[in-house]
This record gives sequence, structure tokens and C-alpha cells, in this order.
Amino acid sequence: MLVLKFGGTSVGSIKNMINVKNIINDGQKKIVVLSAMSGTTNTLVSLSEDIKNGNFDQALATITSLRANYDTTINALITNPEIYKSVFVYVSNVFNTLEASINKLHTTLLYNQIVAQGELLSTYIFNAYLQQENINAALLPALDFMRIDKTNEPDNFYIQQNLDRVIAEKPDAQIYITQGFICRNAEGEVSNLQRGGSDYTATIIGAVVKAEEVQIWTDIDGFHNNDPRYVDNTQAISNLSFDESAELAYFGAKILHPQTVMPVSAFDIPVRLKNTMSPDAHGTLITNQVHGEGIKAIAAKDGITAIKIKSVRMLLAHGFLKKVFEIFERYETSIDMITTSEIAVSLTIDDTTHLEAIVEELERFALVEVDDYMSIVCLVGNAIIYHADTPNLFQVLQDVNVRMISYGGSNNNISLLINTSDKLETLQKLQRYVFENGSVLV
Ligand code: ADP
Ligand code: ASP
Ligand code: MG
Repeated sequence: MLVLKFGGTSVGSIKNMINVKNIINDGQKKIVVLSAMSGTTNTLVSLSEDIKNGNFDQALATITSLRANYDTTINALITNPEIYKSVFVYVSNVFNTLEASINKLHTTLLYNQIVAQGELLSTYIFNAYLQQENINAALLPALDFMRIDKTNEPDNFYIQQNLDRVIAEKPDAQIYITQGFICRNAEGEVSNLQRGGSDYTATIIGAVVKAEEVQIWTDIDGFHNNDPRYVDNTQAISNLSFDESAELAYFGAKILHPQTVMPVSAFDIPVRLKNTMSPDAHGTLITNQVHGEGIKAIAAKDGITAIKIKSVRMLLAHGFLKKVFEIFERYETSIDMITTSEIAVSLTIDDTTHLEAIVEELERFALVEVDDYMSIVCLVGNAIIYHADTPNLFQVLQDVNVRMISYGGSNNNISLLINTSDKLETLQKLQRYVFENGSVLV
């Protein structure tokens, strides 16, 4: 079995939906995971915010304009009158339900129910389109099999049992369409795998069905060596290892949800990144094989807060670090980067939910400084810390204001903490020095 995931842009226009149909309609049995049409989830998130803040007029206007977009899409895509009728009823129900939610008390559950509508709409519409085109497809409702446990990890046993069950109910279908991103939580309520989570859905399913390959189809021809949103002349990387791609995704490469490769790497199931708009381009193949050496790619993650904790006595006084880490553990706040000196330890977090309480506890035995609006720039490549050219990096960075460096924590990663306001310049400089002509590295 193959698992193919198509992102928001891939299902975001009639033209691209036709591309998707052509890609999947090759006679092979497969599971197709779809995101919401591009822009929909962002709109649903802001709708939910408006409801929360009591901006009901704005909320209603948002629903009206989104409804109009969907009406236009289904009018153009669904030409069969019978099928159109059912799609129209489904879409109208979704928007009527959204309107009814304006008067409801805003809770996490309501938020989750609102943002789930994007994937429910795209899959319903796309499956109806496939029926119209006489393609042997069937819809598998993700809410009937995709579940996370109390620790927000996929409940693989439940997923396996229930995915097998829903597939067995439709044994003759060639193409199974399902929703990315959405799931149920341990209480059975509607939940999700966090923004960008459709990639994760695809690999969770891929691991459960022991797929030959998971393909992530998006709007770019693979994993690039730097962030194409901020840097010119980035290039697609043809091969990455699971570890390299996991580090890059975790440290901000938006092309993949941070957890994407986790479910499949243990089973050695390859992940292939492909461009829906250019299906013949090679893309990127992610496997357990390591190709090439030196710095492969650079990524940046924003929204980082740095905390400097200075011991009032000596840092390495027995038990000091333990006391520090226990506080972060108690507040379930994970630490990304850490550096130490004799009298201070600096670390970074991206979840500031409990920052105030953490600082208050640290201040009982240390001096604490907090800096926000920081970014981690992460350079990744197999064994880069041993590569002969890597030390040149420090020359390259002489005119960048680096707050922390993490070198040697893993063989494959060097991380720099900088002010977010310096991010663009840092990424661009690194691109020139590392990958372009006259490069002093690799
Ligand atoms: P989808 O909706 O298909 O999931 P995303 O927007 O989540 O697509 O991810 C694809 C986008 O990720 C690209 O269009 C690109 O702007 C951005 N991106 C950021 N870093 C990288 C990178 N290193 N390589 C490729 N794309 C990247
Ligand atoms: N639609 C969801 C989002 O925009 C999930 C995804 O696209 O992967 O975050
Ligand atoms: Mg994505």
C-alpha cells in the first residue's frame, strides 16, 4: 500500500485538484490524505478567535465569505447534478453549523470542532469529484480511526484496529480518501495533530499499514537547503536521512510537520517529498541512508525565549542543574538549546505558557534574565561537527550577533541562537557562504 498526502495548495484550486486526480489515478491501491484547501484553516482559526473575543459580526462576515468561496469551487468542480446536490447539502450544513457555533461558549473543544471543518470539507468535495469521474474511491472518516492518547501521542493500537475495520468495510475501493490533521483525543472528543499535522497523519497511517512508501505532495519540488521564503537560490536536496530531516523539521523547516518522520523511521519506510504542480521533478527521498557530507541544509525556528540562570553561588555546586531541570519538568516545558559556563546556564524554550511561574521558582536560588523574540538557526548535515570545513563557520558568523551556540550535542546539528530581527540576514549570509559560489564551506 502507498500513502500519499496532498497539502493545502495541492487541493486549493480546481486546476490543482485535477493534478491530484491524475497523480493518484494510476491503478495502484492507496490511501490519500488531504489537508484543508489552502487558507481555510487560517480562516477557521481567526473565526474561532473572533467568536472567543465576542466579535460576532466579524465572525459572521468570515463565514459568509468562506461559504461563497466554497460555493464557487463546487459549482466549477461538480458538474453532475446528483452529486452536486449531495455536495451542496454537505457544504451548506458545515456553514450552518459554523454559524450556529457563534452563540456557543468558546472552549478548546469548540475551537477543535471549528478547525476540523477544513479537512472535512476538502475530503468530502474531492471524494465526490472522484465519484463524478468514475474513479473507484471511498472516504475513510479519520474521526473513526485516528486517535491520540492522554500524552498526545498516536494511539497506534487503536488506530490499527479501527483503520483495518473501516478499510474492511469498503474492500473493493482502489483509492481511500481520508482527512489529515484531525483526530480524536483520549476522551473521544474532536482534536487535531497541531498545525501542519496532515504530514504526521500520513506517516502515522503509513506506519500502521506498513506502507511501501509515504509521499508528501506539496507546492515545492522537495526539501530545500534553506528557507525559500527568506532566501533566494535555494535548491532541492535529493536525499536526506530520517535524522537530518527530523532535525530540520523540528527546527523550523515548514515543509514538514516536526514529528513527520518519527512514526515511519523505525520501520524504515521511505518518505518522498514531491511537487503536485511538477510531478516529474525528483523531489526529496528521505530514508535511513546517509548521502554526502558537510552542511546539507539550514532552517530557522522563531518564537524562542532564552533564559539565563546565574547561580548565586557556583553553578556546578552539587544539585544546581538538577534543581533547574526539575522546575522545567514540573511545568512540562521542554528545553531546546542549552549552554553552560562556570557560573551560568542559558537555555531556550518555545512554549512560554508557564514562563512566569518557572522564572519565579528559579529566582528563589538564582539570578534570572529572560530574552524573547529570539530564533534558532540550525545547520544540519551528517557528522557536520567533524567536517573539516565546519570551523570556518565561526569566521562567517563574525558579524552576526550570536547569543548562544550549540555544537556537538548531536553530530548532525549546529544551532545558533540569534535575535529574530537578525534572522533574514543570517540565513542569507549563511546561504552565500555555505552553498553559493566562492563558498568557504562544504
Ligand atoms: P502544504 O500545505 O503542502 O503542507 P506547507 O506550506 O506546509 O505546504 O509547506 C511547503 C512550504 O514550506 C513551501 O512552499 C515553502 O515555502 C516552505 N518551506 C520552508 N522551509 C522549506 C524548505 N527547507 N524546503 C522547502 N520548503 C520550505
Ligand atoms: N490544515 C491544517 C493546517 O493548515 C493541517 C495541514 O495543512 O497539514 O495546519
Ligand atoms: Mg504543511
